[in-house]
Amino acid sequence: MSALPLLGMSEGELTAFVEGMGESAYRARQIRASLLKGLSFDEMTDLPKAFRGELHRRAVTGIPRIVKALGPDEDDTYKFLFSFKDGQAVEGVLMAYRYGNTLCVSTQVGCAMGCAFCASGLGGKVRDLAPFEMLGEVVAAGAYVRGARALGPDRRPVDNVVLMGSGEPLDNFDNVVTFLKMLGDPGGLNMSMRHVSVSTCGLPGRMRALTDTGLRVTLCVSLHAPNDGIRKRLMPVASRYPIGEVVDAARYHVRRTGRRVIFEYILVKGVNDRPEHAVELAARLRGMQCHVNLIPCNPVDHADFCAPAPAVTARFERELKNAHISCTRRRVLGADIEGACGQLKRRTVTGQEPPEGEDP
Ligand code: SF4
Repeated sequence: MSALPLLGMSEGELTAFVEGMGESAYRARQIRASLLKGLSFDEMTDLPKAFRGELHRRAVTGIPRIVKALGPDEDDTYKFLFSFKDGQAVEGVLMAYRYGNTLCVSTQVGCAMGCAFCASGLGGKVRDLAPFEMLGEVVAAGAYVRGARALGPDRRPVDNVVLMGSGEPLDNFDNVVTFLKMLGDPGGLNMSMRHVSVSTCGLPGRMRALTDTGLRVTLCVSLHAPNDGIRKRLMPVASRYPIGEVVDAARYHVRRTGRRVIFEYILVKGVNDRPEHAVELAARLRGMQCHVNLIPCNPVDHADFCAPAPAVTARFERELKNAHISCTRRRVLGADIEGACGQLKRRTVTGQEPPEGEDP
């Protein structure tokens, strides 16, 4: 029988589990509080030693191991490689902003969507992550940051969560919804859904289903093109779902939640960066409560893509603003610590490590 991951248990399940070991519900509350701090059984020193030994025999925490951590870099960005019990690994990026720490969480090992600018989809999807594994990313990163920085007693190590790591969150829909409910659990991390963003490459049916859950997360949609022709060059998913349906599902989200939608737009030199593309994009989004994040393309090993010159990016931004579309240019975070999607894992897995002592 495989050991039980305690992080995946509800309060009631954990209580039943410890009572089955002859302990009280109080012990369950102690264990839960420690798990959410990212502690191992050995670090739960408020538990009797014999009981900790029994926990080792019967269960695992379910918290992934951080097998590699980079940073902070000059942008105050950390990058993690989390490893799960079956040896699979995913990446997470933590960005420390003035207004709090934001963790980018992976939802699948690999990804089936195959976006041309992304390293995560190169090997296809390996498996979905379970809800407790996604929660494990949050608590493991939190424990690392708590150890690395002096945080005041009232400061959370992870203030915001964005589901933008490897995987398409809405392709792992049920597990992701359960994870979001775990994040918001008042007896757990108690994170407001206002601090959570879910990013999708644009699966219209699932976008509507997410809206219908009533979870008031911020919906981010990777658009990356003003029309289907360009979108198909960058994202195979565009052959299944026309851009019009994706934007309609985004409008549905705005209508039902009253919250604006964020559109992500990676600017790729010579592909989607012309002023007329900005004009076409603005026309498509007209009248919608939304915001466009312009992201200069990170260089990736496997594709011949690069970012346009700053003046081209600035022109694109100006065109959108002239058309009254709210937009900003996102600073490229973590590029100097392998921040581009999937790169840290690929280097670690393929053994292409930077020499010791040299910046990767
Ligand atoms: S960008 Fe996102 S959806 Fe596209 S392949 Fe990468 S992880 Fe998957």
